[in-house]
Amino acid sequence: MPDLAYVNGEIMPIERAVVPIEDRGYQFGDGVYEFVASYEGRLFMLEEHLDRLERSMRELAFDPISRTDIRKAVLDLFTLSGYPRAGLYIQISRGVAPRNHAIIPGMTPQIIMTIRPVAEIPVEKRKNGATAITVQDTRWGRCDIKTVQLLSNSLAKQKSLDAGCDDAIFVSDQGIVREGTSSNLFIVSGGRLITHPLTDNILPGITRMVVQGLCRDADLNVEESFFGTDALLGADEVFLTGTVTELLPVVRIDGKSIGDGKVGPITRRLYDLLRKQAMADGTMI
Ligand code: PLP
Repeated sequence: MPDLAYVNGEIMPIERAVVPIEDRGYQFGDGVYEFVASYEGRLFMLEEHLDRLERSMRELAFDPISRTDIRKAVLDLFTLSGYPRAGLYIQISRGVAPRNHAIIPGMTPQIIMTIRPVAEIPVEKRKNGATAITVQDTRWGRCDIKTVQLLSNSLAKQKSLDAGCDDAIFVSDQGIVREGTSSNLFIVSGGRLITHPLTDNILPGITRMVVQGLCRDADLNVEESFFGTDALLGADEVFLTGTVTELLPVVRIDGKSIGDGKVGPITRRLYDLLRKQAMADGTMI
């Protein structure tokens, strides 16, 4: 089966899928998205991703779409692909209309999806840890909405690659450490785990939420508070969380080793717990 796309109810090979040039997602970045992954033929945290998708659309006042219809389309595409370890993008734009900054009422949201095998993070990165740079956060003020406006994220990621690293970490004007280009961030300091609170400046990551739950179940002390680059660089362990990222150790930031420069025990333990939960849970089809 080739990699597939879904465009407003029709399924086709990805190369054949096109959208109209006056789609507002294309013209204005007026679209939202989700990325869901499956493990052994089951989609992980699908309902939580649909909750966030609905919230994103509500925050931008899109005309409502039936959640049941979206879920059905997701499951149909997933089943047809037959990929046990699939990565599925759901992208919804406000609609198609003659180009105009003003939003014309009554537009029909456009739904597209794509499905491919997950592009896995290399095993050696998971084992030995990744490297990162910090960059100034130049994104807009509503990073809590999962919009398709990913230019700052993309440029920051490329900057990290050009610097010979794996990813970039956004830091605010005031020096507050926020998140990765496609992941949330945790530090471990003196046995305490700390992550940025849920504000307009970070995405409320589903994996972040799962990891917080795993910490509580494992009696690990996890809190949400603001911290700066000194705390980041001085942490015992740092890791990123995300649907593709899962839970990825970061062992070097801005050229400085984190802790002893090796993957730490809490990161390793939480990664094992996350994998176990991902393998056990999921939407059966
Ligand atoms: N933060 C940003 C900016 C992201 O783009 C993502 C995922 O794409 C995340 C965090 C992690 O979110 P999730 O765990 O829901 O995949």
